[in-house]
Amino acid sequence: MIIVKSNSMICIITVLCLASLGFNYFYGDLDIEKMFFGKSMPTAQMSSPQIPEVEHHKQSVILKDLPELKLVNKSIRLDKEYEPIDLVPVKGVYLREMAASALVKMLYAAESEGINDLVAYSGYRSYATQSAVYYNKIASLRPKYGELAEVEAAKLVAPPGASEHQTGLAADLTLKAFLDYEYVLNYDFADTIQGHWLKKNAWKYGFILRYAEDKEGKTNISYEPWHFRYVGLEHAKTIYERNICLEEYIDQSTTE
Ligand SMILES: [Zn+2]
Repeated sequence: MIIVKSNSMICIITVLCLASLGFNYFYGDLDIEKMFFGKSMPTAQMSSPQIPEVEHHKQSVILKDLPELKLVNKSIRLDKEYEPIDLVPVKGVYLREMAASALVKMLYAAESEGINDLVAYSGYRSYATQSAVYYNKIASLRPKYGELAEVEAAKLVAPPGASEHQTGLAADLTLKAFLDYEYVLNYDFADTIQGHWLKKNAWKYGFILRYAEDKEGKTNISYEPWHFRYVGLEHAKTIYERNICLEEYIDQSTTE
């Protein structure tokens, strides 16, 4: 009997330890999003996420490998064949399911606070589409820049495989009114109330302003006030609070 009791105690302690260390970290965010898909979520439930206290070495391995933290940039590119398996249509674009549900919640919250007229302009883009966008840009710059057209194009459009849009976790947001502009995604957005609201509140829904003005040297991408990347609630909160970019966040977690 004593042995049975001891085993039970060990079992209970183990379950409690696992729950405090890992369960919430791996699944909490995703479950919450599925539960609240398409509905508003009380702020109190969303405002206190925490990365659990885990050993740094373990944390770094986990962070780097988490699907929502998939890092794509000019140095780390995706294969031609890479296509997320859970793309869903949302607000006129396609995103991975976790990003789509978060976008719905974020835009709903914005509207409920009187921040209207936000639209999603682009979401998932395949390698082939990115390739077409990139080479079209080069062609359009050729008359002006000649042999330097490719260099100039790369400043404006990510080369195929280097676009975060291929992950299905990034969305470009703009105003309805801008849809008639020659440049739908433009810097005026940063000075709108919608742009301000997103910059300040996107993290509450798991998004980060991916290409911040003061991080151009780290991201190698020009400031884009319209480009929001889903990373999950707890990571977005930390990235926002520390004022770091995704490269720094992942880098810190693997080197600290
Ligand atoms: Zn974008």
